[in-house]
Amino acid sequence: MDANAALTEIKGIGPKRAEALARLGLFTLNDLLRFAPREHYDLREAVPVSSLEHGEMAVVRITEIEPAKISYPIINGRRTAVVNVTLGDGTGRLRCTWFNQAYMLRSIPEFAQGYVYGRIDKSRGTVMVNALFCDCPPGILPVYHLTRGIGQGGIRACMRAAIKHSEGFADPLPEELRMRHGLCQTGYALCNIHFPSHPKELAAAKRRLAFDDALNFTLLLESLRKRQLGSKGISFDTEGAVDRFVSLLPFEPTAGQLAIMHEIARDMASKQPMNRLIQGDVGSGKTVLAVFAMYAAAENGYQSAFMAPTELLAMQHYEQLKRYFGEKVVRLTGSMKKAEQNEALDKIASGEALVAVGTHALIEGKVSFPRLGMVITDEQHRFGVRQRALLGGKSQSCDSVIMSATPIPRTLSLIMYGDLDVSRLTEMPADRRRIITRYVPPSKRLDMYRYIEREIKERGIQAYVVCPMIEDNDDVAFACSAESVYAELSSKLGVRTALIHGRMKAAERDRVMALFRAGGIELIVSTTVIEVGVDVPNACIMVVESADRFGLAQLHQLRGRVGRGDKQSYCFLLSESSSQSAAERIKVLVGNDDGFKIAEQDLMARGPGELLGHRQSGISGIASALLLADMDTLTEARSEALSLLTSSTPEAKKYVSHVLESYRRLLEEIAIN
Ligand code: ADP
Ligand code: MG
Repeated sequence: MDANAALTEIKGIGPKRAEALARLGLFTLNDLLRFAPREHYDLREAVPVSSLEHGEMAVVRITEIEPAKISYPIINGRRTAVVNVTLGDGTGRLRCTWFNQAYMLRSIPEFAQGYVYGRIDKSRGTVMVNALFCDCPPGILPVYHLTRGIGQGGIRACMRAAIKHSEGFADPLPEELRMRHGLCQTGYALCNIHFPSHPKELAAAKRRLAFDDALNFTLLLESLRKRQLGSKGISFDTEGAVDRFVSLLPFEPTAGQLAIMHEIARDMASKQPMNRLIQGDVGSGKTVLAVFAMYAAAENGYQSAFMAPTELLAMQHYEQLKRYFGEKVVRLTGSMKKAEQNEALDKIASGEALVAVGTHALIEGKVSFPRLGMVITDEQHRFGVRQRALLGGKSQSCDSVIMSATPIPRTLSLIMYGDLDVSRLTEMPADRRRIITRYVPPSKRLDMYRYIEREIKERGIQAYVVCPMIEDNDDVAFACSAESVYAELSSKLGVRTALIHGRMKAAERDRVMALFRAGGIELIVSTTVIEVGVDVPNACIMVVESADRFGLAQLHQLRGRVGRGDKQSYCFLLSESSSQSAAERIKVLVGNDDGFKIAEQDLMARGPGELLGHRQSGISGIASALLLADMDTLTEARSEALSLLTSSTPEAKKYVSHVLESYRRLLEEIAIN
């Protein structure tokens, strides 16, 4: 079967599944096979019940089994079928529980034989939640990022079906190059990235796919850049712009902010297109620098596009920008009504709008800027690779500023953005106080919420409670979901509470957030939708439920939501996990408030995946595996890409044109826009 065959041509993938996979950006056989798992569960060997650990995925051999029971308790206000059965393996007893799966009653084997696997919860006895039965240990199982309409079991079945067709895949990499870098073959990598029988096979597969992604993506970006070098930038007149802008600010800029504004003014005045990355910890005040760049562009009659990673942030920036640009700023997001969108599009096209702020809707398709001079990207690492390439195409001769709170190591930033100048904002605005961070054990959880209730009532402060996203079926009963925490707190605490999460309509989310900003809501329970950039100075307590489920850099970002006003702020990290690594990770945060150090530790422990975010690229074959790469592989692949581009051997030329051909769709899109 051809690598570009549609998914529905694969036996076992019907229209329903194909629809769900399309939501993950997967359309062809090749897309699917290159959709790398986010992790694997090692279920090769049964674990004795007596040594099971809280929170782990484990497989247990069954030697005794008691009759199963079903009951119908009310859970979160709903009558829920709960099936229970107790098993033994000679070393201890294990209870298996299924929620909303009454049919399990019939699927439980009657005789003591076989195995069972699932996640272990030891908070009330030893329990395995939503377990699955099998005849032998399932081996190493892949775990994928999910979307609505498909579960882990479903994706695994699709992968098994797809892998059967991967054998005939030709390996595009020149053999000599492949050998020189000690890489395994494509076919081998595509099988073993999903279903390895040993961790070594998995490591080889990851290395190969990550190498491919880094190599190909570098080839793409470098060839885009060649076009850019040919184009001339705009030479803005920025004489005196810094002083004029600073006089409009409601605060004194820090010395660091001033210095960067002058750098931007100088870059803008030059004929070379500006390509500047501003790195600064959360709360260090990057936004105002971007506003300056747009202000200076507007003074010259040029338009600016300001891209935010979420609707919420687009909204927030929009409100702020009105202060500087009045009627000359418009908002454009995917969730706006068609009529509103068209109105914004008209204003942009007529040049009446000097600043357009929005999400990726700003760079997709129809938008046309007659005088685009400046492109600002906030928290760029959260954008997919496809967006990044589109943006690169739209803004070829424009000046561009990228803001990031994450210190991206040089190699990685070279691969993700190509060459750019970096400004670092190292000091915080002067009125900031340190955020006090504490670990709160489960036994103190309620006391903590009572304390927060008092603080809200007596001091008039506001608070966030963040819960991990629920995405795994086998995790449902384990993580604290935003919905259940909201139900609990809104009934127990006497404060105005609201819920906000990614499955809500963006308009509804914006409404709730606006109410929170205005003080109409005191406690907001959310998923990570509030993670980046949200700025409510009166909110000075941040609670993170199941903090062990977040990455360190992400927790640090979350913590940065508080400490934005002049009140003492707190971050409380809750965790039920008793695992060693969870405790250590939380300790890093309690003892450290330097985002750069935290990100470095994260990078060393977990590779770049967390820094880049887990978004899929939406185009075949790139960036999914990049998340799995280690730094050495990235460095190696980048330098190989650069030498391929200058090499004149037929193999090198053939490979480069093969790669660019595979991005043809994308490149055409860029050329059209
Ligand atoms: P981030 O770098 O995380 O994007 P922001 O740009 O959102 O940070 O700034 C955080 C807050 O600090 C905002 O409310 C902003 O108005 C304020 N701020 C920025 N610079 C200064 C300053 N020099 N003095 C006082 N407050 C400032
Ligand atoms: Mg910001």
